[in-house]
Amino acid sequence: MRVLIVEDERNLAETLREMLKQNRFDSDICFDGEKGLKYAQEGTYDLIILDVMLPKVNGFTIVERLRNAGVATPILLLTARSSVDDYVHGLDLGADYYLTKPFEMQELMACVRALTRRHGEVVMDKLQFGDLMLNKSTCELFCGDRSIRLGKKEFSIMHLLMMNGNVVVTKEQILDNAWGVDSEAEDNNVEVYISFLRKKLRYLHAETQIETLRKFGYKLQENT
Ligand code: CA
Repeated sequence: MRVLIVEDERNLAETLREMLKQNRFDSDICFDGEKGLKYAQEGTYDLIILDVMLPKVNGFTIVERLRNAGVATPILLLTARSSVDDYVHGLDLGADYYLTKPFEMQELMACVRALTRRHGEVVMDKLQFGDLMLNKSTCELFCGDRSIRLGKKEFSIMHLLMMNGNVVVTKEQILDNAWGVDSEAEDNNVEVYISFLRKKLRYLHAETQIETLRKFGYKLQENT
């Protein structure tokens, strides 16, 4: 197995190479995006570990160019950014998985093993409740053959509701989860987003509905 590491933090790149070597992976290192793109296009690799913030050409551009050029090698993105938007952007462009720095080496090796085993098949992270399926990698909500993209807050709220299933989720839990503990957001912010989600459930023709328990919170209800 051969891995291409594109990472401008030299210490991290060397640590990765050492860790991979211990796990019987050979690797090449490129310290900038231009060289990384060239190696990725011309070499034969089983996996590319790619930093996002790179000199010359950034990681997102590299993913886009490789996929447009038909290079299907699995790509694991590494980045200091942690927003859902970046995560989705990277995956939309064709990356297979995403790790936010700092990460544990064990976590990285687990990703490396999964991605080299799967040969480029996207590692999907799905959550299911009733007739709904939430793809955590793309923030898309599915019902049968219909699907819709959720905004960042809508995703956080739907994720929380689906995780809790038939258990009631309080407005406070939703506020802490989607807006953050220190946020100034209020109950009516929650109500607005719940109405957005209900609209999307109608669009999906979902049997599962968001039930309101007055002065308490919300829960999902399967209406089958
Ligand atoms: Ca960097």
